Amino acid sequence: MNDVSKAVNLLRSGGLVAFPTETVYGLGSDALNDLSVAKIYAAKGRPSFNPLIVHVATVADALALGEFSSDALMLANTFWPGPLTLVVPRRAHCKVSLLASAGLPSIALRIPAHPLALELLQKMGLPLVAPSANPSGRISPTTAQHVRDGLGGRVDFVLDGGPCAVGVESTIISFLDGHPRLLRAGGLARDVIEKALGQTLHEAQAGPLHAPGQLESHYAPRAKIRLNATIWQDGEARLGFGTMDAELNLSRKGDVVEAAANLFSMLHQLDQQQAAVIAVALIPMQGLGEAINDRLRRAAAPR
Ligand code: AMP
Ligand code: MG
Repeated sequence: MNDVSKAVNLLRSGGLVAFPTETVYGLGSDALNDLSVAKIYAAKGRPSFNPLIVHVATVADALALGEFSSDALMLANTFWPGPLTLVVPRRAHCKVSLLASAGLPSIALRIPAHPLALELLQKMGLPLVAPSANPSGRISPTTAQHVRDGLGGRVDFVLDGGPCAVGVESTIISFLDGHPRLLRAGGLARDVIEKALGQTLHEAQAGPLHAPGQLESHYAPRAKIRLNATIWQDGEARLGFGTMDAELNLSRKGDVVEAAANLFSMLHQLDQQQAAVIAVALIPMQGLGEAINDRLRRAAAPR
């Protein structure tokens, strides 16, 4: 079996596979599988959930997941495969894990320009989420050895494609409010994009849908949130954890990775019940528990 087939098998069974792109090595998982997306946050050791870039093989695949304006489509057709990520509204019924969007109604999409990445995506036949394959807070990896040094046994397999050609992350442009906005400078220069669009790019706006570090109020449920519940009160919608059980339980076995996988979809389900308050069971601060509690605190913050 060749390396790409091995990678596909591991990814299909929920594993994590690092793979080369032209920008940096990505830590890939099946974008449709909540649990394997949760494993990415655990492997990177992130203290919070940030949305992940979804990698696809074709423009048609991207159009099935996000709503592209004519300008967004033009950029995709012009610069993909390449170091450009487009953030667009998620389609209704988009099957990508809500955790990959960190609960946002938007999705970040890209076709990477690397022969191994493309072969992997084609053989996989499913979108892959892939943040940089390094522990949180460390330098992005541009060789397979960097990935092994940084993540070691936390990754199931590293697909080795030699050093990355671009070596910096993709440029990120959002199309969420009628204006193309530069969320992150990266491997594709701003002026090249502006020339193709025939207009200057707007800056990232403060607010939930836009830039990293500005995600404080993202996905705020309609209901108020009561955290660290150790008893249930009448009239509240309930989100359980472990033995603090309820109809919706983040993880009956008390596993924080499973809880992360369920977090956003269960919050959405509870919010649809129109209760004034969602009570959430106490979740320990171990492992991904820290990111889950961070997210819940933001959702609970007054607004
Ligand atoms: P990376 O660390 O290279 O995987 O890039 C992830 C970055 O892409 C995030 O920190 C956001 O800035 C941006 N991003 C990804 N998905 C979204 C999204 N759904 N909405 C807004 N920004 C996103
Ligand atoms: Mg990174």
